[in-house]
Amino acid sequence: MSKRILIVGGGLAGTITANGLCRQLGGALGKGEVSITMLGNTDQHMYQPGLLYIPFGAMRETELFRDQRKVLDRRVNFLLDPATNIDVDGNKVECQSGKSISYDYLVIATGSRIVPEEIPGMAEGAHWFYDLDGARKMRNALAEFDGGKIVVNVNAPHKCPVAPLEISFMLHHHLAKRGLADKTEITYTYPIGRLHALEPVAHWTSAEFDKFGIKSETFFNAKSVDPAAKTIESEEGSTLPYDLLVTIPPHRGAEVIEASDLGAGGWVPTDRYSLNREGSTNVFVVGDTTNIPISKAGSTAHYEADTLVDNLASLVLEGRTARPYDGKVFCFVETGMDTGTYVWFNYETPPNPGPPSKMIHWSKLAYNRLYWLSARGLL
Ligand SMILES: Cc1cc2nc3c(=O)[nH]c(=O)nc-3n(C[C@H](O)[C@H](O)[C@H](O)COP(=O)(O)OP(=O)(O)OC[C@H]3O[C@@H](n4cnc5c(N)ncnc54)[C@H](O)[C@@H]3O)c2cc1C
Repeated sequence: MSKRILIVGGGLAGTITANGLCRQLGGALGKGEVSITMLGNTDQHMYQPGLLYIPFGAMRETELFRDQRKVLDRRVNFLLDPATNIDVDGNKVECQSGKSISYDYLVIATGSRIVPEEIPGMAEGAHWFYDLDGARKMRNALAEFDGGKIVVNVNAPHKCPVAPLEISFMLHHHLAKRGLADKTEITYTYPIGRLHALEPVAHWTSAEFDKFGIKSETFFNAKSVDPAAKTIESEEGSTLPYDLLVTIPPHRGAEVIEASDLGAGGWVPTDRYSLNREGSTNVFVVGDTTNIPISKAGSTAHYEADTLVDNLASLVLEGRTARPYDGKVFCFVETGMDTGTYVWFNYETPPNPGPPSKMIHWSKLAYNRLYWLSARGLL
């Protein structure tokens, strides 16, 4: 009987997994021995890292989107029908249309979502760039900004752990170019006792922030925002005034994960090496939605998906898995409007950011375009 692979979520991890499986299982797909179905809740694929550039007008909105069908291998049966319940005991997924889809292997790739509404006043008083609407509003606010106090407030958990650093550096350089550096004070807040979850990145950030006069406050867990008074208050009792508040809102996993009781906060308990959902041999989890204590990043999602493709193809064809995920992550980091650096690390090797250069910034810009090849599995 044909083996049915079902992928829930057509973002970065789901798409790379689907396209990779088509490449590796081409023969079996051709003979009808395997089928690959994807459930999505949008027909547009968004390149989320591009959102970073929208507030500065440095990327056009149209560059962020492609038709999901065109990004996917034509052998993937893509259904625009959001999953409403994932039944891992019954090996089936219920959809918004009322359909129930059974599977032999399930890949959960439903990502994460921002929940600014969880902090009183944040949705009304803060700006963010973690979705398109937010990035557009931030672009307008920045265009009107003519100096004053900017607070960059980071909440956990959140995806792309380097984006808050990037936005701080980019704000500084963008405003300096507009002649507003002397009239602007940027304060970055972070919930734990250093500037970044990864210790070497925290040390590096501290030195880089000093170069540009970016201030910081650690142990700052946002409690509430007062949009009328233009202040943000922390659980620790600190109150910061702002003229422009840029927040990285807290995140949760997809609603369907919580509705299906698959993990607190929408994060699915996942084996960090095999990427199996804990307790299931035929359910795998990739991308932001795992509970693995590692950066929630496109790069993580990509390397996890590559590993899963090898393992799932081996399972289907040979009844064995191929290799463990080693925790590899590689992220470019913008350190201004025209310089950048990068970090890479895995479960064994800590990150070690190097000196910024224009060349690394250009490499990041190049990758922003090459992403579409990467998602199709051509890079
Ligand atoms: C501003 C910004 C900058 C970033 N910069 C970087 C960067 O420089 N480098 C980097 O590595 N990462 C970066 N990221 C993070 C990266 O984009 C994410 O980590 C990555 O997209 C995660 O992939 P994913 O497949 O897990 O989730 P997503 O790409 O979010 O995909 C999840 C998909 O699941 C779908 N879905 C959800 N619920 C359902 C349902 N019930 N039924 C069907 N489908 C569903 C969603 O619609 C979505 O299409 C950035 C993110 C942002 C917002």
